[in-house]
Amino acid sequence: MKDPFEREIDYLRISVTDRCNLRCLYCMPDGIEKKTHDEILRDEELIEIVKESVKLGISKIRITGGEPLVRKGIYNLIKKISDVKGIKEVTITTNATLLNGNVKRLKEAGISRVNFSMDTLNTEKFQYITKSKLTLDYENLIKELIQYELLPIKINAVLLRGFNDMEIPEFIELADKYDLIIRFIELMPVGHLDFDHEKYYISKKEVLEKYQELDFYKKDIIADYYKVKGKKGIIGFINPISHKFCENCNRLRLTADGHMKPCLHNNNEVYVKDVDRNLLSDKIVEAINAKPKSHTLDESIDNRSDRPMNKIGG
Ligand code: SAM
Ligand code: SF4
Repeated sequence: MKDPFEREIDYLRISVTDRCNLRCLYCMPDGIEKKTHDEILRDEELIEIVKESVKLGISKIRITGGEPLVRKGIYNLIKKISDVKGIKEVTITTNATLLNGNVKRLKEAGISRVNFSMDTLNTEKFQYITKSKLTLDYENLIKELIQYELLPIKINAVLLRGFNDMEIPEFIELADKYDLIIRFIELMPVGHLDFDHEKYYISKKEVLEKYQELDFYKKDIIADYYKVKGKKGIIGFINPISHKFCENCNRLRLTADGHMKPCLHNNNEVYVKDVDRNLLSDKIVEAINAKPKSHTLDESIDNRSDRPMNKIGG
């Protein structure tokens, strides 16, 4: 269905859990209050919401979190979602730390593409930014994703001044080696974290001035893409704040505790858990109709959503 601004809403991002095995500094605060089991949407409730959403025009689903792969029974749940009639594509965004050795299972569950997040190629820096002792064997993971043809492989890295902006040449080499799409995400102020947004924020403009070998290649709804002459792979920049893509926004978000978010960047939500089945469709329509023309984060970061990112899913 179309929202009040004539945008066709066909994409639902489902956060299946607010829990995560990492604590990325810009995403998940320490000591965060976790939802209880009863507050989180059960598989059956999720499937009902997906079915009603399909009737309203949703055909593409992205599974996200928190970290989706920490949800118990996640492979079964993905299979149930992919089996809903009318769903054409199910994809996932994951931190990939639980993915090595599980790509075949993910494909059999119905996932057609994987975006994984990795802000740095350096183990110590990875453990610093994720506040964990885990490591990511990304080269073997990439090989596994290629083996099972979950292509193209997209890697997301949040661009952080003084932390990973100097690693861009290494990311370009990695993209070349495995023919990857690597996308740098502009740091967003979401939730109320003790993370110094201003210190770490760096704009695409500044990066492009520094790495002049990046030649403009193409753009899609959310990103601008660049290539380096003579190299395989694509480097993208997702800039929701400095170059908002609200005009082409085709998405709704469902939080793990059952709130539909018409927009990532404000506090408006429609509660869809524990709603009488006959009223569920009306609630989803309410969320679609509540989509704002655009976010107002560029006017002031005080307009941000109070939920931290792990409770929304990106
Ligand atoms: N745990 C999974 C992961 O890390 O890919 C899925 C959920 S995570 C919230 C989805 C995406 O949001 C990740 O790519 C993450 O880097 C990004 N993200 C989290 N907080 C962010 C922030 N403050 N600004 C920009 N991107 C952010
Ligand atoms: Fe977890 Fe993803 Fe947030 Fe990192 S970005 S804390 S991996 S949900």
